[in-house]
Amino acid sequence: MAETGSVRVKCPKCGSINIKQEQDKGKVLSYAGQTPIYKKHWKCRECGATWE
Ligand SMILES: [Zn+2]
Repeated sequence: MAETGSVRVKCPKCGSINIKQEQDKGKVLSYAGQTPIYKKHWKCRECGATWE
């Protein structure tokens, strides 16, 4: 069975799926017109680990 559109990401430290994707406002990758596209990273709500 092929799942499309849903990527299951887990915390690499504690394995929690209680995570969120954050924008790193310090790193602008590019601009879409006037809107800056920020680099994104994941953050675990459980242990606070961040990763890309
Ligand atoms: Zn974690």
